[in-house]
Amino acid sequence: MGGQVTDAVDALKSALERSNSTVLLPGSDGYEQSLKRWAESAEKKAAIVVQPTCAEAVSRAILFAREHGFEIAVKGGGHSTSGSSSTKGGLLVDLSKMRNVTVVPDGKMIIAEGGTIWEDVDLAASEHGLSTVGGTVNHTGVGGLTLGGGYGWLSGLYGLTIDNLLAVEVVLADGHILNATEDENPDLFWALRGAGQSFGVATSFTFRGYTQRDPVWGGLLAFTTDKLQSVVEFANNLAETTDGQSAIVIGFAAPAPARKPVVLAVAFYNGPKAEAEEYYKPLLNLNPVLNRTSDMPYKQVNAMLNGVSTHGDRKTQKGTAFMPPLSQTFAQSLLDDYLAFVRGVPDAIASVFLFEYFSQKKVIEISQTAMSFANRGLHSNILLGLRWTDKDNDAVCREWARTEAKKIDAELKKHIQDSRDGVGQYGNYDGIDAANAWDLFGVNTERVLALKNKYDPTNVFRKGAGRLFVE
Ligand SMILES: Cc1cc2nc3c(=O)[nH]c(=O)nc-3n(C[C@H](O)[C@H](O)[C@H](O)COP(=O)(O)OP(=O)(O)OC[C@H]3O[C@@H](n4cnc5c(N)ncnc54)[C@H](O)[C@@H]3O)c2cc1C
Repeated sequence: MGGQVTDAVDALKSALERSNSTVLLPGSDGYEQSLKRWAESAEKKAAIVVQPTCAEAVSRAILFAREHGFEIAVKGGGHSTSGSSSTKGGLLVDLSKMRNVTVVPDGKMIIAEGGTIWEDVDLAASEHGLSTVGGTVNHTGVGGLTLGGGYGWLSGLYGLTIDNLLAVEVVLADGHILNATEDENPDLFWALRGAGQSFGVATSFTFRGYTQRDPVWGGLLAFTTDKLQSVVEFANNLAETTDGQSAIVIGFAAPAPARKPVVLAVAFYNGPKAEAEEYYKPLLNLNPVLNRTSDMPYKQVNAMLNGVSTHGDRKTQKGTAFMPPLSQTFAQSLLDDYLAFVRGVPDAIASVFLFEYFSQKKVIEISQTAMSFANRGLHSNILLGLRWTDKDNDAVCREWARTEAKKIDAELKKHIQDSRDGVGQYGNYDGIDAANAWDLFGVNTERVLALKNKYDPTNVFRKGAGRLFVE
């Protein structure tokens, strides 16, 4: 860093000190920690890290980076595997000091700062008997997940996370701090709900809260792989008949410590244990080799998958989708692919292959063009979550995820007639292979591009889906 920039960094430091915001450089206490990500393979060495405590500090950091020609990366929960919240040699806005949650119980509103994780929201909301649609792994960031859409256990009841978003405070590329709601800057609010990661730094989110019954029921089940057909049959039936109170994620995994491939099922029931066990009887009667289901306070629900989603190692995620009912023969062929893959690359044995059976009925009640998010449809997400330790396996793991996703996409295309049915790709599952903005924003592409041009014409926020926008 040249002398002039060093002086400017010192000036930034003292300006930000007033708000208890910090500026870190390589070697500073906390610098290495600020680079940590859910996936080690997504970590990069920033030249400067700013840890703001308020929107004004974010604004200063953005203006500083622009003035001195630094690339900007924004880190919420740090779960992107593509490196979109990291920068090599740029300025990192690390939102980890902005984790306050305020609950307005009378108005049933939950206000979460831009650096919160879902656990922060679940714990604060539960103090007031409330919940909202959050991510199914509670250490995931509210920021990235919300700005890209957001699916969760409560989606069957209340739709996507963005369908319950009432307001966003955002710092734009020119440093202005705006509030976006249906009435205030409505075009920006439209853009933030789906394409938000490419429009600015969200410093606060206001969500609609719902009275949450407690306790609820759920947990992890594992079955020997010969039970696949019965598990798929149960999940298909649940998808067709649920009123939104139940949801299930099934998949393939080899949980620790045995690391033996199994068919996994993570069940959720928004009701009492006795009722849940009756509802899930056909599944529970399949003699699971592991049954960790129980009643639990709602605030623990988004921790059910934490055990198969721990931090560390090299990782990639690939999103695709399927149209329920999932065909039995197709499910079997995917299981065969997974088994062959983990046998061939034993280093990737901790990988997961998940099929999310969240009812889409509420999601599709909202029009495809109501927000920039363009993946509303009856299809459900599939997440290929690959995990390995040896850098030499990067290529083989990433390539397998791509090839497998292509195979599934081809099957999905038979069911998705046109883009009004949704793009069939959830951008937040690292749409790394999206060729252009249309792949993620479908019928909304033109409007997304026009608004990007209005709010961030030089593509300052170009990481993640931002790279799809022409500079
Ligand atoms: C284990 C795991 C479980 C998941 N489960 C779910 C799930 O249940 N439902 C679901 O919908 N998705 C889920 N996802 C996908 C998740 O939505 C994305 O990975 C999301 O990007 C994570 O956000 P983050 O803030 O943790 O990530 P980060 O890596 O910090 O950020 C991801 C992107 O969002 C941007 N960003 C983050 N915060 C802000 C902010 N405040 N303002 C502006 N930009 C911001 C970053 O710059 C980056 O481009 C899961 C992912 C993982 C790894």
